[in-house]
Amino acid sequence: MKKIKFPKKETWQSLLQRPTKQVADIEQTVLEIFNEIKLKGDLAVNKYTKLFDGVEFENLKVVEKDLNKAKISEELKQAIQLAKGNIERFHDAQRTSKVAIETMKGVVCWQEKRPIQKVGLYIPGGTAPLFSTILMLAIPAKLAGCKEIILCTPPDKNGNINPAILYTAKLCGVTKIFKIGGIQAIGAMTFGTKTIPQVSKIFGPGNQFVTVAKQIATKYGVAIDMPAGPSELLVYADDTAKASFIASDLLSQAEHGIDSQVILVTTSEKMMISVEAEILKQLEKLPRKEIAAKAIENSKLILVDTEDEAIELINEYAPEHYILVSKNEDYFLDNIANAGSVFIGNYTPESAGDYASGTNHTLPTNGFAKQYSGVNLDSFLKSITFQKISEKGIQNIGKSIELMAEAEGLQAHKNAVTLRLKSLE
Ligand code: NAD
Repeated sequence: MKKIKFPKKETWQSLLQRPTKQVADIEQTVLEIFNEIKLKGDLAVNKYTKLFDGVEFENLKVVEKDLNKAKISEELKQAIQLAKGNIERFHDAQRTSKVAIETMKGVVCWQEKRPIQKVGLYIPGGTAPLFSTILMLAIPAKLAGCKEIILCTPPDKNGNINPAILYTAKLCGVTKIFKIGGIQAIGAMTFGTKTIPQVSKIFGPGNQFVTVAKQIATKYGVAIDMPAGPSELLVYADDTAKASFIASDLLSQAEHGIDSQVILVTTSEKMMISVEAEILKQLEKLPRKEIAAKAIENSKLILVDTEDEAIELINEYAPEHYILVSKNEDYFLDNIANAGSVFIGNYTPESAGDYASGTNHTLPTNGFAKQYSGVNLDSFLKSITFQKISEKGIQNIGKSIELMAEAEGLQAHKNAVTLRLKSLE
């Protein structure tokens, strides 16, 4: 793990670079696959499933019989149900009520939310079957009232979907599940095929191929939740933190994928040294040691002079996950401007938000926390505005509209008001 002491500001940009490939590196492949899916539909989806996942299917859809067959332990079922309850409670509490106001006498405007009708959920499954992501996406989709909720997830080498994915999907009420992953899944949901429905918005994290494909899908009129790529974690810890806890958090994100990145920022050299030693110790015992070790190569321990410098650096990085353990907790909380989700204190591991505390784990990565929010109830809703103007109302605002329309040279706009005003004379 690279140790960087007191980096100069001019070096921050290169220091904070992510190990992920950029859109341009993958764009050409995505465009080729998308074009083929547009032309050949299921045939192309099958071709790429064979190429990238090594399996071929007669039917890309999971059938009811397979859904019912999915067996997982009672203990795991209960854990999933506990998480479901917390995630439901937190997301249900995010509902906002109708906003209505009479902007001037006789002019009533209001805003109401309506669900996006057709949504597609991408559940990563390449290196780990992320059934927890189903909870994070299907629960708010259901609460929002989306009519059609489809799910795509890559098959394993034998063409199967992990039973925990099937169980969780069924528990959350998702019944249209397709055994496809990567670029071909995003392409299929963007254009629709004979088997896979086209959707209006695609949700969910994934590796860099999935993330770039989602970004390109927007060029074809599909909305996306956000670019949610390889996981990242930045921890700020001072001497009040427990080094073994911090190391376990950093490793928890490092084990996601070789392109994950974890960073420790600290004002304490002692903490930096202790965390590094703990990481090496704990890494040895991890089953996904090889993946985590590769990600650790991309990762950094950064020692800074002051807390001001620390928060400036954190905001510049805009981490997906931000763990904060400091005696000056309030200072760091008040001044955080860019982060996907924040975890506070020694007893708030990032894993809690990944699974069960209630917050959503589909979050902006790669610096996108500067302008995107993580998935929440509103991600599945649209705000529609309404207005109703009375006779008195049109008399109150009519003249202004006429003047503005005329100034813009839009005579038909003006006429739409003039006719009404005349009818009231
Ligand atoms: P994945 O489902 O995202 O990707 C697997 C698919 O990638 C395969 O089906 C295959 O089609 C495609 N693929 C693999 N190699 C390819 C290649 N060379 N060319 C084209 N396509 C290729 O699963 P994964 O790979 O395990 O990645 C999951 C990712 O999700 C991790 O990077 C993890 O960090 C990230 N994640 C992010 C969040 C978040 O909120 N940002 C949350 C959870 C997970």
